[in-house]
Amino acid sequence: MNQKPDCALDRRQFLMQAGSVVTSFAIPGLSGLLRAYDAETSIVLPPLPYAQAALAPSISENTISFHYGKHHQGYVNNAVKLVAGTEYEKMPLEEIVRKTAGKPDLAGIFNNTAQVFNHTFYWKSMKPGGGGKPSGRIGEAIVQSFGGYQKFVEAFSTAATTQFASGWAWLVLDSSKLRVIKTPNAETPLTMSLRPLITIDVWEHAYYLDYQNRRPDYVKAFVDNLLNWDFAEQNMA
Ligand code: MN
Repeated sequence: MNQKPDCALDRRQFLMQAGSVVTSFAIPGLSGLLRAYDAETSIVLPPLPYAQAALAPSISENTISFHYGKHHQGYVNNAVKLVAGTEYEKMPLEEIVRKTAGKPDLAGIFNNTAQVFNHTFYWKSMKPGGGGKPSGRIGEAIVQSFGGYQKFVEAFSTAATTQFASGWAWLVLDSSKLRVIKTPNAETPLTMSLRPLITIDVWEHAYYLDYQNRRPDYVKAFVDNLLNWDFAEQNMA
């Protein structure tokens, strides 16, 4: 469609073939996070981790097709255009998000690059056959931090259903404790010294074709059937 994403992809692929590009972009305290989703070092639309129909019936192929192919692609296209010729053009995606946060004159770059990051993180936060009570290290952390799996479900579902209008709910690591937070619009825990573990998109475009106004049903399907605990545990590293 345009040349910029291809250039970015080629550069990333070259760097990844050439060596450990991911660690070269590591930010102190977040190296584990960066290892877990190494595709976000430039502004690209990464491949979905599953087929577009793989999350049905919880999320339909039609929803994924629009959400990934139109919305996420749109944020990528806008971000690439907005950073062209600026000091942000060659920066890793996460660094652009951090450096433009809270600056009104850079809101366009922030909103679009943060949405690129958030959406890539969202796709990885789900998997076919996911959801339910986690085991292992993440399961222990959930119990220690929330007092039990059901308490986590309540906290996460409440955050996701009460985020007013557009935004996101997140499971994050705050020093050694897990917490649930919600963010409006494109806001992201990347700018808050919190390590994101899982996110759910609660913009209407994420669920309206399948659930219309029934956001709680979409949130329940995410928690029960899709939540990718393997990804959450990788991000704790
Ligand atoms: Mn979205």
